[in-house]
Amino acid sequence: MSDTPQHPHHDRHEGHEAFGEAEQAREGVKHAERELPAAQQPRLIIVGPQGSGKGTQGARIAELFGIPAISTGDVFRAHVRDQTELGAQVKSVIDAGDLVSDDLTFALLRDRLSQGDTGSGFLLDGFPRNIAQLGLLDGFLAPRDEALTAVIELDVPREVSISRLAERARVEGRADDTDEAIAKRLDIYERETAPILEVYRDHGLVDQIDGVGSLEAVTDRIIRALAERGISA
Ligand code: ADP
Repeated sequence: MSDTPQHPHHDRHEGHEAFGEAEQAREGVKHAERELPAAQQPRLIIVGPQGSGKGTQGARIAELFGIPAISTGDVFRAHVRDQTELGAQVKSVIDAGDLVSDDLTFALLRDRLSQGDTGSGFLLDGFPRNIAQLGLLDGFLAPRDEALTAVIELDVPREVSISRLAERARVEGRADDTDEAIAKRLDIYERETAPILEVYRDHGLVDQIDGVGSLEAVTDRIIRALAERGISA
């Protein structure tokens, strides 16, 4: 998927002896970067209405920073596709455009966040989706001393969201991209998800990004906003 190795430091050890002084010095710098203190690791959340492009932009940003993009929607869809017990339990809820219960969703997220690859940071897409989930996430991260670094809010007008979703329905055929389920998800977004942005805004964490434009243009805007916070890849 990318030229960037998953664990660049492993590769760098190969042929280490052959490194000249300049390379060794650079290696030292990279080494220092890799071991950033917990407070400086990118722990990001991307939030936006359905059709805002948050999944796509989240994956691009995560790849750039070498951190896992964790999408609760993708995790659920994988369970449905693989016909697991959990998949059977959540399928009808998801297809109707409703939210899966907070407890079940958080249990999955907690397991995922406990895996080793989140040590250098992570990007969450689709969690938290309401104030209760925000509290659950906070309760998990606080004792680990892993404060969030930034919350990226992708801002798109409702007409743009709806036309992108119509296109996605045509191309991908997601079971929850029916008119009825889309309307329900957008309503839930306005009513339950948008309020989490107010909480994060009060903590100075939100970067509001204009989500209209080419993929590259939107990614660039996100990168610039993060750079202003001192977060760069
Ligand atoms: P979208 O943003 O287009 O609604 P997602 O892929 O983020 O799509 O989520 C798809 C579905 O998965 C949601 O409609 C919901 O049923 C379920 N889901 C995903 N994340 C959560 C969450 N944090 N809490 C509850 N349900 C969730």
